[in-house]
Amino acid sequence: MCDFFWPLELSILGAILGSFLATVAIRWPAGRSALSGRSLCDGCGRPVAARDLVPILSALLLRGRARCCGARISRLHSAVEIACAICGLTAGLVASDVTSLVIAAFGWLLVLVAALDATELWIPDPLIAIVAVTGLATAVLLPPPVSDRLIGGAAGFGSLWLIGFAYLRLRGQEGLGGADPKLFGAIGLWLGWRLLPAVLLFAAMIGLGMVALRLAAGRAVARDEAVPFGAYLAAAAYPALLLMVHLET
Ligand SMILES: [Zn+2]
Repeated sequence: MCDFFWPLELSILGAILGSFLATVAIRWPAGRSALSGRSLCDGCGRPVAARDLVPILSALLLRGRARCCGARISRLHSAVEIACAICGLTAGLVASDVTSLVIAAFGWLLVLVAALDATELWIPDPLIAIVAVTGLATAVLLPPPVSDRLIGGAAGFGSLWLIGFAYLRLRGQEGLGGADPKLFGAIGLWLGWRLLPAVLLFAAMIGLGMVALRLAAGRAVARDEAVPFGAYLAAAAYPALLLMVHLET
């Protein structure tokens, strides 16, 4: 397989999968299935023609408005499609064959996690369970060894759970979402314990960067405002896997 075409193919696959995952991210919080039926307009519920379903390009050509009813197409569609395309591209650049597919799959799962957390402050347990199980299973293809991953799972969950518990005791309010320790544990099952401090630091930096951006845009940030920390963890974990695979192979 040519070195150049594979990352390109994986990025196209990512964009196509991303268009499905964006639908999942929009429908799951409402308890609707993304698998049943055809693609329906988020605005009016009418079926969307195939020509208007091309990832990224359709939204650009339609200037962000649905052809059927003129409703704004949620920016989540393009954001998820672009993020999934980037995950595919970068996975194809650091690895080849089935290994790169597995790496991309981690990214695609994390994009769904981030989309749900960013829009709904909600990460469903079944989704975290999929991240956890696939993490342990991929020890056959990728570093680190199973022992590192099991410690990572326990350390990831335990560390954030303790931080959340201490915050609750000291401040008398929830400082972390209930899903964050579980997600960090699942990430530990992919990356092993060694990378977790770096992921946590990077996630915190993304969070601070977001706050700085909002302040720079002149918008207030409340002290007790809920932030999608799970989305920041997801955004930090994927580059960590890319870097680890790049350095170790
Ligand atoms: Zn419509």
